[in-house]
Amino acid sequence: MRRTALARLLPPLCILASCAPTTAPAPPVPVPTPAPSPVAPPRIVTLPPAGPTGPVELCERGTVQRTADGRLFNHFPYPDMPATALIDAPTTLGGSCKVHPAMADDLARLLAAADADPAIAGTLRAVSCHRSEALQRQTFCGGIGANGSGSFAERAWASAPPGHSEHSTGYVIDFGTSTAPACNAEACFAATPAGRWLRANAARFGFEMSFPAGNRQQVKWEPWHWRWVGTTASAAGAPPARSIFLQARTRFPADPKVD
Ligand SMILES: [Zn+2]
Repeated sequence: MRRTALARLLPPLCILASCAPTTAPAPPVPVPTPAPSPVAPPRIVTLPPAGPTGPVELCERGTVQRTADGRLFNHFPYPDMPATALIDAPTTLGGSCKVHPAMADDLARLLAAADADPAIAGTLRAVSCHRSEALQRQTFCGGIGANGSGSFAERAWASAPPGHSEHSTGYVIDFGTSTAPACNAEACFAATPAGRWLRANAARFGFEMSFPAGNRQQVKWEPWHWRWVGTTASAAGAPPARSIFLQARTRFPADPKVD
């Protein structure tokens, strides 16, 4: 562009110099640096937005404040997958259980492997799968004492506030066992054959334990709570799941975890 501008200046200069030929070498015309062509910026992997940062109304008991990273009582915000986007989990898990369709193949493989193991064949159950934000609100707020007993923080140790449960994504199953139902959603589930089998095998099918014992996220140990993230980063359906859980997986890794 500067070369063109210089060319436009030449005729008047020529008049002033009478257009006499000269032996002096023409001064070098500075070569303009080409303007960078518009290219896509390099893809930088960053953590997703932490979510809203303002105060949150909770259980009609006033407002509470998120931490700077968007968490509410240690729980990250999660989208609520609409029921129409979910599918029924295999009926062998018992009860009504809706899950994200992306996990269907891995879940089927997991159940087939479990059924092939005489130690737990036919005993895996699903205690809870997708939970809507409305249901999570009932669950969380219902656990706050009517007389004001029980703080939000105490409640959040074992139950995520509405809008902050991994269950709302559809990627999570709370597994249980038919052989020791009293241990379903209890710490003793870890010692059941089903709990031990999941710990040893679930990651092979893309499931990882979100809240391992002693997790730094300071959420109760939940050996029954497994989120699906795909067996690899490029597996079908895995990128969206891994994107949703990126904050949690990066800062508070699961154990067992999926690489
Ligand atoms: Zn759970």
